[in-house]
Order: sequence, then C-alpha cells, then structure tokens
Amino acid sequence: MSALEIQHLCKDFAATQVLKDVSLAIDSGEFLILVGPSGCGKSTLMNAIAGLEPVTSGSILIGGEEVTWQTPSERDIAMVFQSYALYPSMTVRGNIAFGLEMRKVPKAEREAAVERVADLLQISHLLDRKPSQLSGGQRQRVAMGRALAREPQIYLFDEPLSNLDAKLRVEMRTEIKKLHQRLGTTIVYVTHDQIEAMTLADRIAVMRDGQIQQLGTPNEIYNDPVNVFVAGFMGSPS
Ligand code: ADP
Ligand code: MG
Repeated sequence: MSALEIQHLCKDFAATQVLKDVSLAIDSGEFLILVGPSGCGKSTLMNAIAGLEPVTSGSILIGGEEVTWQTPSERDIAMVFQSYALYPSMTVRGNIAFGLEMRKVPKAEREAAVERVADLLQISHLLDRKPSQLSGGQRQRVAMGRALAREPQIYLFDEPLSNLDAKLRVEMRTEIKKLHQRLGTTIVYVTHDQIEAMTLADRIAVMRDGQIQQLGTPNEIYNDPVNVFVAGFMGSPS
C-alpha cells in the first residue's frame, strides 16, 4: 500500500485547467521530489494534497484511506512553505507547539515534542525568542520544527529553501537529507533547483503544464529522459 496516492486529480481555477489528470503513488519512507517550471501547478498539487484547496475531480489517499474531502487538520500531513508564516507574536516554543495545541495534545507531550525537535534542528537556545529576533535560516528551522513536532505520516515541502542564500541552502539541504535518513519519513518536496532534486530524491516527478511528464529515479530521469522537455529541464546530456 502506498503512503500517499493521487488518482486522476484535476483542478481548475475558473476556466483554467491547472492540474490535468495527475496520478502518483508514493511509497512509505520515500523522498519524492516534484520539479517543473514556474506556473506548471506544483504548489496547486501540494495545496490539494494538504487540503488547502478543494479539487475539481479525482482522489487523494493517505495510507489507503481517502481524504479528498477532509479538512487540512483531519489529514495526517504537515506542510512547510517557502514563506515561513511563523506567528510573529509567539515565541519559537509557541510556534512549534501550536499545531499540537490545536490537536489537543496534552501539555507534557507538547513540551517533550518541542524539546525533541529543537534538539534535532539545533535551535534549543532559541526557544524563547520571537521570530523577529531570528535570522532567515533560523526561521526556516523553526518552520521545519513545527512540521516535525507533529510526526505526521506525510511531509510536504514547497520550495522550503528558496528564500535562503546559497550557502545556507546547501547546509539545510544536507540537514533535510539527514533528517529523512534518520526518521524514515515520507516526503514530497517541491524545488526548481535541479541539484537539490538530484541529491535529495529517491524519485523525481517532472511536471509540465499540469501533467507529470516522467517519474523515475534521478538516474533514470537524467540518463533516460522521456522527451526533450525533461532532458532540457534536467540538463541531461544530448
Ligand atoms: P507552481 O507552484 O508550479 O509555480 P502554481 O501551482 O502556483 O505553480 O500555479 C499554477 C497555475 O495556477 C498558474 O498559472 C497560477 O497562476 C494558477 N493559480 C494558482 N493559484 C491560483 C488561484 N488561487 N486562482 C487562480 N489561479 C491560480
Ligand atoms: Mg509554487
């Protein structure tokens, strides 16, 4: 059984078809990278999986259970966006614990979860600060901490590093890879950075104009692209 299954998903915004019959099955523990040019529908797909946007047709299953019409909080998913969207008036501790509080997780358990992820992400010394007192990289760690605290079945990352400078991006990339290896979680990760895709992915899905053009290992996608678009996009040798 797949950890996450997307079946014939379509999404229209008014008269515009943005997702055109997208089907995808993601294994438990898999790190799937979704790439494609700006505007091809990557964020729309992520938002649909998270339940932030209703779909036009098709289904979404988590652990074999259909969640297509469930609210975001009913789905066992945590999402990290490009814009960190931390609560400015709350401390780091408050931000990390917020999702747990919403889910009525008892206080002792919340505190233990905050300690655990703060340790994992090396932000224990920042727990009592407000987001305005943090650097961009630290804020992004807090946003990740908030997702990790929940221990959901699925993590969705939508270009989480694209606001960071190059050096920090490389650092965070390494950390995300380590986290995945350590926790064995299922991740769907959007990037437009080909190097990020090649280094992080178990499999890569290449999207264009609302459709998945190819799904395969980094090796398959790079060395055996199905068409000129995929080859061009991944910089494969011609
Ligand atoms: P990507 O994340 O791949 O850059 P998006 O999923 O954000 O692409 O957008 C795909 C297309 O859907 C774009 O043409 C965008 O303008 C359109 N779109 C996204 N969100 C909305 C919305 N809320 N209303 C109308 N059009 C939207
Ligand atoms: Mg996007």
